[in-house]
Amino acid sequence: MLLYNTLSQNKEEFRSLKKNQTSIYVCGITPYDTTHLGHAFVYISFDVLIRFLEYKGIKVSYTQNVTDINDRDNDILKRAKEQNIPWQDLSKLWTQRFLDDMRKLNWRKPDNYLYASQNIRKMADFVQKLIDKGLAYRVDASVYLDISRIKDYGKLSRLNRIEMLKIAKDYEEDVGNPDKKHPLDITLWRKSDPRQPSHIPSFESPFGKGRPGWHVECSVMAIMSLGERIDIHGGGRDLIFPHHEAEIAQSEGETGKKPFAQIWMHSGIISYGGEKMSKSLGNLILVSNLLEKYDPSHIRFMLLSNHYRKDWDFDYSKIEGAKIKFGTIEKALSTKIPPTEYSKNNIIDKFESLMENDLDTPGVLNLVYSASLDILSGKEKSRALQGDIKKILRVLGFAV
Ligand SMILES: [Zn+2]
Repeated sequence: MLLYNTLSQNKEEFRSLKKNQTSIYVCGITPYDTTHLGHAFVYISFDVLIRFLEYKGIKVSYTQNVTDINDRDNDILKRAKEQNIPWQDLSKLWTQRFLDDMRKLNWRKPDNYLYASQNIRKMADFVQKLIDKGLAYRVDASVYLDISRIKDYGKLSRLNRIEMLKIAKDYEEDVGNPDKKHPLDITLWRKSDPRQPSHIPSFESPFGKGRPGWHVECSVMAIMSLGERIDIHGGGRDLIFPHHEAEIAQSEGETGKKPFAQIWMHSGIISYGGEKMSKSLGNLILVSNLLEKYDPSHIRFMLLSNHYRKDWDFDYSKIEGAKIKFGTIEKALSTKIPPTEYSKNNIIDKFESLMENDLDTPGVLNLVYSASLDILSGKEKSRALQGDIKKILRVLGFAV
């Protein structure tokens, strides 16, 4: 099976480390707000990858995390303070809503669903190892990864230091921190400020009270659940730098094993009205709102009509179009056909070769749609073809 690897910037023949077993880590949500279409696109894209691997008889071990705490005065903490509720309650509430939305979209749940806040001790141990190896340094009770010790830092994003700095500022990477040897050094542990407001939590560690860095959280949760080397690591494309670049540096630094992930997969970004969806622009398309008007299958059909690596712009005509096409397929599936008729149209082989070419879901949906039109026009009279269409749709996660 060919998968595009962001690391090599090529489609590569994917072979898992262990025969017939694949480990997959996909970066999860920061639970402070509701699930929007961008989240759904990421998680449904990986959902289909996992379902296809399982259909091929491969056992998948799938981990996703919840960033319910990290080193920033982040959205959860800010939002919880505004609403005057404990951050744990806010994060529980939005994690549950996310899981409910995804359940309605019929996703295959991760095997390991890990919360950062429940694995702090392991994160502190991991950071200590990086210090012991001379890859990280302590300033007071804060710890930073020394990127000058990571020779191949930048191999995933292929950015130069100036480009990195520009992006790092947008990501609250604390580039102006005078304690850092280099502004791009990664915060692994942020010490608590004795004057910090009471709504900001702090956790015990060998270095002192503080909070783990966002990037190191994912390194630790991936390794603890899937091992020192994993098969596929995924997420939205906006995570390539700094998040995934940092994860590689930390993980490979700590274990000494390369590559940390065999394949890095990144999904495209959905915009609306030509602008990136964001809370501040007020152009978020929420999954829960779409679910009030549309069947989960229509949403899934629209998402999978776009190749997972593509950036695309949402508009309502796209979901209306998906609704009509899916309706046509359903009609073809319920058409009565005598049992004796058969088809020579082997869509299963075509389906598999499309999927094996870096998950060509738009191609698969076209295949299924045109086979459905053939049934409706009377060109194809085959119960077996109806069965094959159903089988393919089920692998793609449609409840048919
Ligand atoms: Zn992550």
